Amino acid sequence: MKIGALEAGGTKMVCAVGQEDGTILEQISIPTTTPEETIPRILSYFRGKEIEALGVAAFGPVDVKPDSPSYGHILDTPKAAWRHCDLLGQLKSALPIPMGLDTDVNGSCLGEMTYGCAKGLDSVIYITIGTGVGVGVCSGGKLVHGMLHPEGGHILLTRHPQDPKGGICPYHKNCLEGFACGPSIEARWGKKAADLKDAPLVWEIESYYIAQALTDYIMILSPQKIILGGGVMHQEQLFPLIRSKVKEFIGGYLNTPELNDLDNYIVPASLGGDQGIMGCIKLGLDALC
Ligand code: ADP
Ligand code: ZN
Repeated sequence: MKIGALEAGGTKMVCAVGQEDGTILEQISIPTTTPEETIPRILSYFRGKEIEALGVAAFGPVDVKPDSPSYGHILDTPKAAWRHCDLLGQLKSALPIPMGLDTDVNGSCLGEMTYGCAKGLDSVIYITIGTGVGVGVCSGGKLVHGMLHPEGGHILLTRHPQDPKGGICPYHKNCLEGFACGPSIEARWGKKAADLKDAPLVWEIESYYIAQALTDYIMILSPQKIILGGGVMHQEQLFPLIRSKVKEFIGGYLNTPELNDLDNYIVPASLGGDQGIMGCIKLGLDALC
């Protein structure tokens, strides 16, 4: 059986055809320009592919509540051309197949839980640290939506005493995204994050912010595993720094097998960058039931 997968990102749309076991048969990438230009290109890719369903994981904020009148619409995004675009409605009116929708980060979380390192678990969080910071949450086997959907990239944090700049989020300044996204690192140090590998203070400060956030997620959501992806996490030296700070911040308050094995608790994404598109396959499959 063939399933369509659409990872709708702010810079590119990844369109793929896959199978139930997560195999990706083919895939293309279309730049995200305007809906008028981009959506017809997505549709022309999927037409004639004989897909039985389509799973969509979209940048946000996006309405993911099936009962809502604006279900499937992109909401108040900074990308003006996409504001209030009825993405899912336009796809549905052109492709008469079942469709599933969630946020991009919930999609990646689902991909890892279905095909990757979080298989068999029911409470997992997936965090991407890249151009922005997003957090996908699955609790008790359900991807969490709530009032809208969690925006775990915007939790407020304490500034590192040696941080010369602070956060750059225009809404909160001192939130995780403001402090720790790639553009924030670059604004703080005046260099590409990828070129700062040998500057220990950069990663000391970065890991301080990520570990504060993880500690809060652990206390609130009690995840069984925490997966970190996105461009910034290519800096593998962050993992041991984050793990040791999480241990310090938890302060011995919790004592679980997971927290006693942090190398297997706080882990990199395991699907080689395909966690998002593979999550879309699962969203499509789930729409068939
Ligand atoms: P997006 O978040 O737009 O989907 P990415 O996850 O690739 O895309 O994130 C891009 C950001 O990640 C850039 O702002 C850049 O600063 C940062 N980045 C990319 N590669 C690296 C790297 N090797 N080391 C550190 N930071 C990186
Ligand atoms: Zn913010």
